[in-house]
This record gives sequence, C-alpha cells and structure tokens, in this order.
Amino acid sequence: MSETWSVAGIAVPAGRMVRHSLELVELPDGMRVSLPLALLNGARPGPTFYVGAAIHGDEANGVAIVSRLLTSLDPAGVAGRLICVPVQNPLAFQADHRVPVGLYLKTPLDQAPIDPWTTFPGDPAGNVTERLSHRLFSLIQGCDAAVDIHTPTRGGRYVPITILPHPSLPAYGKAEALGRAFGSGYLMAADQGMYVRDGILCVEATRAGVPCFTFEIGEGGRVEEEATVTGLRCVLNAMRHLGMLPGAPDPPPTSVRMRAFLGFRANRGGLLTTDVKLGERVSAGATLARIHSIYGDLLETVTAPRDGIFVRSTTLSSVLSGERVATLGLE
Ligand SMILES: [Zn+2]
Repeated sequence: MSETWSVAGIAVPAGRMVRHSLELVELPDGMRVSLPLALLNGARPGPTFYVGAAIHGDEANGVAIVSRLLTSLDPAGVAGRLICVPVQNPLAFQADHRVPVGLYLKTPLDQAPIDPWTTFPGDPAGNVTERLSHRLFSLIQGCDAAVDIHTPTRGGRYVPITILPHPSLPAYGKAEALGRAFGSGYLMAADQGMYVRDGILCVEATRAGVPCFTFEIGEGGRVEEEATVTGLRCVLNAMRHLGMLPGAPDPPPTSVRMRAFLGFRANRGGLLTTDVKLGERVSAGATLARIHSIYGDLLETVTAPRDGIFVRSTTLSSVLSGERVATLGLE
C-alpha cells in the first residue's frame, strides 16, 4: 500500500486523485491567477510522472489529452504518482494565444523573454515568464520522468511526433527509452535545432536527471478527437513502460526514427496550397506546396530537395514571404 503523498503544499491520500492549484501571479486589480494541478497518488508505490500541456496557450489538444487521461484513470489501479498540469501557462491559455499577448503589447521590452518553454529552469526573481518556468520546474524536479505536450502554434499541424532532448544529456538514454515506448509512430532524435537548445523544458528536465521529451500532435487552436485518442494511448504507454499500469505498451502500426528537421519558407506571398498528405514519405523533387497570387498566377513551387517525411504542414490559407510552409523529417 502506498503512503499519503505531500506535494505542492497538500497531502494526497493513497488511492486518491485531487485537484489543486498553486498561486502564480497577482494581476493589477488584485485578482490571482493560479496554476491548475491534478495530483494522483496511486494505491501502490511506484515512480512519479509529470504530464504537462499548454505551455503555449493555443495548444488545446494537449489540454484535451491530459483531461482525457484524468477521466480514464482509476487511482486504485495505478502504481506510483502523477503530477498533471493540463494548462502550464494559464495567462497564455486565457488569451488563446502562444504567449500572453496582452502583456507583450503592454510592455514588450520588459516581457522578454515571454516564452516560458525556452526559459527553464526559470528564475524566482525574474519576470512573469521566468517565475512560471521556475514554478513548473520545481514540480518537475520531484519526478522520475516527464512529458511536455504541444501542438504547433495556430496555422500549423504536426504528425504525432516524439522529440527527444539533446543526446549529450545524462538522462538521455532513459528519455529515449520512454520516448520509444510512448509509441507515437514518429521519433525525432536530433542533436541540433530549436527543440534541443538549452532552456527548453525537456532539455533542462533531462539535464536535471528527469528523463523528458517534447510531444507535438495535431493543429494549434483546435481540440481534435483523433489527436486526443492518440495522445491518450501514448501517455498510457509511457505509464506502462514506467510500471505504473499493468501490461506492455501498445505499439503503433509503423514507427519511423528521424535525425533532423528540414523547414521550408515561402519566398513569395499569396494563397498557399499544400500538395502532400501529412505523414507521407516524399522523394527528392516532389512538390510540397504551391503559392498562387491573388490573381491566380503560380508564383512559387516548393519542392523537396531530398527524400524525407512530411511531418509538419502549414494550415494557413495565405502566407507572406518568409513564412513557414512545410517541414520534412530526415531519416
Ligand atoms: Zn508549443
């Protein structure tokens, strides 16, 4: 039998799940904004697993995945403990935007850095973003493993893709094993680029000895049933891998491992048409997307310079020069 768990200032009895919140910030009118938590203390002892979503406020699929997880679990059947943070960035979620855009408009200079995802382990004396990262990191540090669920920001769509932290980190091996068991079907093991930089949530967690990865799924600004079902299956797989649930992880029908992203940006502005299905393998020379002028002229054809897998599409109807239009994953 497990014992009562003292976490985040409260006691959670064995075999129970409680909803809780931690105060984050006081607004000018005195209103308090809190970080929502669900804390599950399983009936039997086991590891502590952190599941976080919506550190970017428009990434609602992650919120749906965590909420589906919470309604599908019976604490009596769980070994170990769960810290679930369905909305890691409440101010941004309230704005339904990647960042708390109102704050940025008010004082752009003072709000930098404004993306908590990139500011781990955070700073208790920093700006509102760094204080949030610090608060989240204090929860993550007490765990044995963690996952950080994302979607692209609005206007983008990802295949379900598990993105590992930098391979030089001490707990990378455990993060990779957890990521493979997660079973999203697409695994990115890159050693450069945005996702493996210092300061990223999963990088700093793994550096601190808590194996962690980033999971991207579906489209920003939407709640999608297919993504919710897939995401739930993956999180349950991670819990099976960690020994928190009985049975073996349920593997995806196919799985591909990649080592780099290759992104493409528009050189012309106009209406965007995407020619490849998300998740499809493409050969060098294949047309990925086309840009037409508002008069109907074909302005640009974006082609794949090499073989790859179409992992991220742009769902915006129009683009200007410099905007991202497609991303391939390279094996
Ligand atoms: Zn994100």
